[in-house]
Amino acid sequence: MKKSKYLYPYEKNGFYILSGSQWNVYKVEEEVFEKIKNNNINDMEEEVVQRLKKELLLFEDWENEDDIILDKFNEAIYGNKLKLTIIPTELCNFRCVYCYETHNKGKMTDDVEQAIVKFAKRNAKDYSSVDIEWFGGEPLLESSRVITLSKQIKEVCKNNKIPMVSSMTTNGYLLTQDILSQLIDANVLYYQITLDGPESIHNKMRPLVSGEGSFNKIYNNLLDAKKVDKYFKIAIRINVSKDNKDSINELLKKLDRDFGDDTRFTVIMETVKDWGGDNECVSNDTLLEDRGDLEEEMAILGDNLKTHSNFSESAVGRMCYSGRKNGYVINFNGEILKCARAQYESDEIQKKNLIGQLMPNGKIEYKSSDAQWLKIYWNIKYDGKDCDNCWAKPNCVLSICPLAKVANIQPKCLLKEMGKSIDVYINTTITQGKYKIV
Ligand code: SF4
Ligand code: SF4
Repeated sequence: MKKSKYLYPYEKNGFYILSGSQWNVYKVEEEVFEKIKNNNINDMEEEVVQRLKKELLLFEDWENEDDIILDKFNEAIYGNKLKLTIIPTELCNFRCVYCYETHNKGKMTDDVEQAIVKFAKRNAKDYSSVDIEWFGGEPLLESSRVITLSKQIKEVCKNNKIPMVSSMTTNGYLLTQDILSQLIDANVLYYQITLDGPESIHNKMRPLVSGEGSFNKIYNNLLDAKKVDKYFKIAIRINVSKDNKDSINELLKKLDRDFGDDTRFTVIMETVKDWGGDNECVSNDTLLEDRGDLEEEMAILGDNLKTHSNFSESAVGRMCYSGRKNGYVINFNGEILKCARAQYESDEIQKKNLIGQLMPNGKIEYKSSDAQWLKIYWNIKYDGKDCDNCWAKPNCVLSICPLAKVANIQPKCLLKEMGKSIDVYINTTITQGKYKIV
């Protein structure tokens, strides 16, 4: 018998283990904790051994843990869930200071919309589910198209007896009660809307094209959304950098007061970052080095308004769509891309990103291979550190931004990114009762 190579013991008001491969926190007896910590697992009770084996915390000597993890990776990468990111328009009514997009390319035509419906009709039978993310530009500049296209794809999925769910990243400025209600009817149920601080800070970070502030309109839309008597989820995302860090607490208190009584609203806080696994981009020195403070803020807030950290997702959950075989972006002009962001990178990267072109009959005319986006990056090395002995490696591997791989950029070290927030994250998980007892 041997223990998993990817365990992080944590001792505070009890005995816990974070599994770097399952990304679960487990509560164990003190005796079990000591045995695992001291690598003395041969005289454990059989019942306990069976429970720990089931959770992949212990293995038989002949088992290869990495093979088992790789099976899981492969399922995530090659599984037959279709994940489409659809960009109905590249235009935007905002000019956020950290945005990498140019907002001058254009918007979808009726012909491309019809080609997407034909694509769905041709291919839906090959997938077990369809997951659509509406992205932009600002997708709600084209809300009618999103609603009609979403309804048509929903119908195709219904005819093929597969589930379809969709989500949207929007700036929230045009998300009125009426539009929200229509979107929900078209199965657009999950929203991410960014507020970058209290009014004065947000307005500097996320102004309208005219330069005017956007905070009040977004905030009133969020308050109005509470009146919509339907199921949806809105994650209010706060991008934190050195510039707005000190004002975040004020915003969190306001959000807690106004939305703490409605479980459809949650808060996600993320550090503004460069190619770190999200669609944010900056290249100055305002990046936070350690996200521990954010996790601490979120832990305090957790009583009313529910907070959510990207780190509470498993690696498979956090894995970018572009690293999945069936993950594509359909651009407003029918281009099939792997990564929404890579279209703003160098010509060489853009070429690797352009997988094909959607034709009017719903077929894809392929232009380049997607292979380099999918390779498992198991042998990462970060700053000369020996990743082989790292307890977080399985989670780190799938968290890597595929664009960074394609561009030959040094991947981000998950441990470095999490910093002291690992302990805060475990503590919050325990406080919120989200651990498993084994
Ligand atoms: S490949 Fe990287 S930059 Fe592109 S969407 Fe995924 S995580 Fe973001
Ligand atoms: S890059 Fe960092 S988190 Fe990832 S495996 Fe290496 S040491 Fe661990």
